[in-house]
Amino acid sequence: MPYDADVIVIGAGPAGCAAAIRLVLAGHDALVLERLPAADRTDMTSGEVLAPQTQEECAQLGVDLDADWLCDRFHGVRNVYPDLSWTYHPFPDGLSYVVTHFSYVKV
Ligand SMILES: Cc1cc2nc3c(=O)[nH]c(=O)nc-3n(C[C@H](O)[C@H](O)[C@H](O)COP(=O)(O)OP(=O)(O)OC[C@H]3O[C@@H](n4cnc5c(N)ncnc54)[C@H](O)[C@@H]3O)c2cc1C
Repeated sequence: MPYDADVIVIGAGPAGCAAAIRLVLAGHDALVLERLPAADRTDMTSGEVLAPQTQEECAQLGVDLDADWLCDRFHGVRNVYPDLSWTYHPFPDGLSYVVTHFSYVKV
């Protein structure tokens, strides 16, 4: 089946999808080519934890981070040492990491 597009994006990982969405939002036709069938992508781990920069990118791309696939949001990390003592290190104000239910989301 023939396709026509302004830009061909190779790979439907986070970078390829983000690039394609931005191209379409800018008014271009984008064609994304992925070598793996969707059924083979169920073990992808990308997106299990979203860093602040990734959350910002998702927001710009219209991904709703308050959707029901949001599992948790944490505001610091706890270091646990061999003797089971621990220290807690909060992130700076306004920064948090997001834990998602799913390894990838549909937008
Ligand atoms: C075990 C593990 C856990 C991770 N956990 C997290 C996490 O919790 N949070 C997080 O933010 N990041 C996580 N990462 C990192 C994250 O997966 C990567 O940063 C991200 O996937 C990189 O995106 P990308 O689009 O650059 O590349 P990729 O995700 O690798 O996407 C590239 C795509 O291109 C396709 N492709 C390659 N060659 C071709 C070709 N010739 N033709 C067509 N298609 C092609 C591939 O099949 C693939 O789908 C994790 C990584 C690993 C390995």
